[in-house]
Amino acid sequence: MAADGPISPPNVYDAEPIPEAARDEIDRLLTSGDLFRYTAPEGAPVALLEAEFADLLGSRYALAVASCSAALFLSLKALDLPRGARVAIPAFTFAAVPSAIVHADCVPVLIEVGSNYRVDIADLKAKIAEGLDAMLISHMRGHTSDMDAIMELAEAAAIPVIEDAAHSLGTTWAGRNIGTIGKVGCFSFQSYKLINAGEGGILVTDDPEVAARAIIMSGAYEQNWKKHPGLQNSFGHWQNKLPLYNTRMQNLSAAVIRPQIPELARRVADGRANHDYVAGLLNASPWLDVPPPLPQEVRAPDSIQFNLVGFDTDAEALAFQDACKRRGVGVQVFGLSEGNARAYWNWQFLGDLPDLPQTRAMLMRACDMRLPARLTKPDLDFIAQAIFAAAAETKG
Ligand SMILES: *Cc1c(COP(=O)(O)O)cnc(C)c1O
Repeated sequence: MAADGPISPPNVYDAEPIPEAARDEIDRLLTSGDLFRYTAPEGAPVALLEAEFADLLGSRYALAVASCSAALFLSLKALDLPRGARVAIPAFTFAAVPSAIVHADCVPVLIEVGSNYRVDIADLKAKIAEGLDAMLISHMRGHTSDMDAIMELAEAAAIPVIEDAAHSLGTTWAGRNIGTIGKVGCFSFQSYKLINAGEGGILVTDDPEVAARAIIMSGAYEQNWKKHPGLQNSFGHWQNKLPLYNTRMQNLSAAVIRPQIPELARRVADGRANHDYVAGLLNASPWLDVPPPLPQEVRAPDSIQFNLVGFDTDAEALAFQDACKRRGVGVQVFGLSEGNARAYWNWQFLGDLPDLPQTRAMLMRACDMRLPARLTKPDLDFIAQAIFAAAAETKG
């Protein structure tokens, strides 16, 4: 019976267990009560994580903080942008991204996103011509925008690029790690990302001034910056000149994250194989389209996105969503689920929202499905067959 695959839908929501190695370290921390990153003179778990993460990505500096959103906010502050600076973001991203820009007293400028979920370069060019001070590029759901074109435009306009690589750990672009192409790269350790600490984030940069400023503002008050390697001159200059936002990571989070780093290569390889297998099955349907990666991109997906083809009405798309649900598979059309935080028209805190017809059209037919690395081939077959059948039934 098992050979025929699961008889009930696979659970795509449960996390992988945290590696056993975390237990001893957490026990040690609980016994000593040493939870604050700056108490130990050296070798605190957060400091070790920063060294390991910088090494993993090949970056000079890493700063672990409370969330990726905090990392994005600190990156904007560390760039010393003027109040009211115009910061480009893809119109397809998570609501916390424009929120970080608002929090940093800057103004988000939404860029159109194509049906392949990536920044529309022609619209980015047009918005640069209207005036931009920085770009914050979210590689949403791990889909990398054309970083060659973006960096070329950024260099020509002399504006910095922050990469929101929250969901892109393990992705490469022309052989380079995503998050290391722009001036700063930010990653998330929230539970739905490739490394799960419940909450947490980290930023990487090669720029000593940006690193020093971000470290101080993250809450390295008094002489605590001396516990970050290699930046003594920059720190001395900035101490007490910058506000403290106190959004540090604590040692327990680092103890949960560090033993997952050796798991990363497996999660990336399995996640990509799972994704590509399901993509092949879905693309055999005339009603479904999984956009291919860009040629420079090697992805690290833990979910799959696909577009509904020939679904002329929202009612049809909703009927498809229901048909998946009846088969036990939780597919969500981004723009058709009430209040979705990835649909830009729900970002009411921005006030006047622009109309972005291309992004809107994509969101109204783009589907989202979790596909964690731990799924087995029978799980993947179950999911793909359910989606395939739901599309066929709806289009009838
Ligand atoms: C998850 C996510 C964030 C936010 O990360 P947090 O660590 O929860 O703040 C930002 N951008 C993208 C693209 C994400 O996927």
